[in-house]
Amino acid sequence: MRNDFTRYSRHVTRGPRWKALRMAVMERDGFKCVDCGARGRLECDHIEPVRKRPDLAYDPANLQALCPSCHSAKTHVEVGRKPPAYDRQGWRQAVVELMAEQTPVEQMR
Ligand SMILES: [Zn+2]
Repeated sequence: MRNDFTRYSRHVTRGPRWKALRMAVMERDGFKCVDCGARGRLECDHIEPVRKRPDLAYDPANLQALCPSCHSAKTHVEVGRKPPAYDRQGWRQAVVELMAEQTPVEQMR
């Protein structure tokens, strides 16, 4: 999942078209992080991830300036967002705990 995300992003953030667009977004956002206002090193973030909305990859309205820490926090949330039920290990553990609480051990077999 993380690899997909990185791959899509890389495909877009390569080439002169991206560089010009990135600069325009930084200028629009006043060369500061739109989230915390930090100046200095900034990254150009896709509000809707490229893997979800490839059609918005070069749309300035879908881009914002973020400092590296806000950017990685946001990316982390996107990549890590997953309903617990799909996490097989976690789901099984939850079931085991539930069973242990509510069912006598003899009935589990
Ligand atoms: Zn920030």
